[in-house]
Amino acid sequence: MSFSEITGNEKLKERLGQIITGKRIFHGYIFEGPAADADALADQFVKAALCESQSGDSCDSCVSCRKVDAGNSEDIITYGVEGSIKDKEVQALISRTLKKSYTGNRVFMIIRNADQMTARAQNRLLKTLEEPPTGVTIIMITENAENLLQTIRSRAQLIKLYSDGVEKPESDEEFRKRAIATAAAVIEGKPVFSIWKDIEFFVSAKPSAQAFIGIAETFYRDVLISAYDRDGRLIINRDSIDVIERCRKKLSPDILAGAIESSETAAADLARNVSAGHAVKYMIFDIQEKLAR
Ligand SMILES: [Zn+2]
Repeated sequence: MSFSEITGNEKLKERLGQIITGKRIFHGYIFEGPAADADALADQFVKAALCESQSGDSCDSCVSCRKVDAGNSEDIITYGVEGSIKDKEVQALISRTLKKSYTGNRVFMIIRNADQMTARAQNRLLKTLEEPPTGVTIIMITENAENLLQTIRSRAQLIKLYSDGVEKPESDEEFRKRAIATAAAVIEGKPVFSIWKDIEFFVSAKPSAQAFIGIAETFYRDVLISAYDRDGRLIINRDSIDVIERCRKKLSPDILAGAIESSETAAADLARNVSAGHAVKYMIFDIQEKLAR
């Protein structure tokens, strides 16, 4: 099995390959998509990441690839059952993972049907995502990332598959860049009319409003964290490090904490069925009002 044997999601596969060759494997991922496709893509990502060739894909012939194919790689701990995933099961998974990680190789913990985790189980996992042990990557697979706690989503990178395997005209990457640019403009106090087109774009549908709010929140967190996380290990939007640095120099921790709070309120508003337009616009006005104080 290699990336090329998985059909569709071409850009996504390319991005996953680049993450591996660039040695930018993050500590948490959410693979969102139809179960069989998301499982296959996540499995292939892990296999390629562990492959001794480090070419961005699996070679199918090294020791690691053969172990993965035989289902007995020590570097992968998989959990996935039908029905709810409880706190004590997640706890056991984490301690197995930590034990393995001392042996040297990166260890991947894969949780299938991740939205079946109880809230307590998710909170248990969240602690590990917040203080990620070196060499551990947690992959959660779900058909709908919105069923995971917002706090979990904000500490993991979303890898979103399209059901028909065809990407939307605007890729995730472009969407994310645009969202970050807009979030930065908001907190830098740019007049709302100058970003009105972008705002209208994000509020055109509930999922894009939700995605915008989520990305804005991770961005504000990144700016806040960047003040003391000098090696950037906890920064999620690492490809926007220049924007993060620029904002860090200008903004106080209080303002950033306020912006995170406004984003959380907007996410909760949307979940309570407040319209996308109202939730996002209120969030922006709320942040800019805090700036003006
Ligand atoms: Zn290999």
